[in-house]
Amino acid sequence: MASVKVTGLNKRFGDTHVLKGVSVEVPDGAFAVLVGPSGCGKSTLLRLLAGLEEADEGHIFLGDRDVTRLEPRERDIAMVFQSYALYPHLTVRENLAFGLKLRKTPAAEIDKRLGEASEMLGLGPLLDRYPKALSGGQRQRVAMGRAIVRRAQLFLFDEPLSNLDAALRAQVRVDIRKLHDRLGATSVYVTHDQVEAMTLADVLFVLNKGVVEQAGPPLEIYAHPRTKFVAGFLGSPA
Ligand code: ADP
Ligand code: MG
Repeated sequence: MASVKVTGLNKRFGDTHVLKGVSVEVPDGAFAVLVGPSGCGKSTLLRLLAGLEEADEGHIFLGDRDVTRLEPRERDIAMVFQSYALYPHLTVRENLAFGLKLRKTPAAEIDKRLGEASEMLGLGPLLDRYPKALSGGQRQRVAMGRAIVRRAQLFLFDEPLSNLDAALRAQVRVDIRKLHDRLGATSVYVTHDQVEAMTLADVLFVLNKGVVEQAGPPLEIYAHPRTKFVAGFLGSPA
């Protein structure tokens, strides 16, 4: 089970109150999008889900497990960052295998998972290259491959398309959604882009200044915005 439940999450950095009692529920297998303007707390929320930051108050459940105080490696989560975060001194193959080796996965199992991920993402011809010899889109696919070989139940995406040009962005957006459907995973995807949010989401969360202003199916929110902010941000008809 990879449903996500976040209750009453608060996070402060010094005097800055970044998340103000955020609650979010994502059903198992859903593609959830957190959308909101720059600085509203999207990345912070994702980092809390991943265990890269600690909550001041509130709880995070994955399935029925309370993971609020667990280390990232104990959470069964894969995160795809904006900046890809590939190891520059390792080949694509080594980048894909790195996390599995750390976890002492047997070599035959590593080969099998790398084969599957390469096939899904078309990485075969790239396996012996170094990250610097890849395009932005190719790096993004490797970053996704790394998440896939982990067999994570929950995928977290932080603005994964923001470093790509417009044509590629549309393509990778479709690829990400296909991958999600094929893996049967649960995804939480962060973006400030309304079009991306509307086209990808099964369930949408509109964030503003550390508060979830509205949650639900994207078309319903678009048609029936509950606040002025939501209406303006999504460009809902008046
Ligand atoms: P978003 O991803 O929606 O653009 P962030 O979650 O990155 O927003 O940031 C929300 C707010 O929290 C911003 O005001 C940012 O400056 C602040 N913030 C984020 N991380 C830190 C940090 N490690 N230390 C201090 N302030 C931070
Ligand atoms: Mg961010």
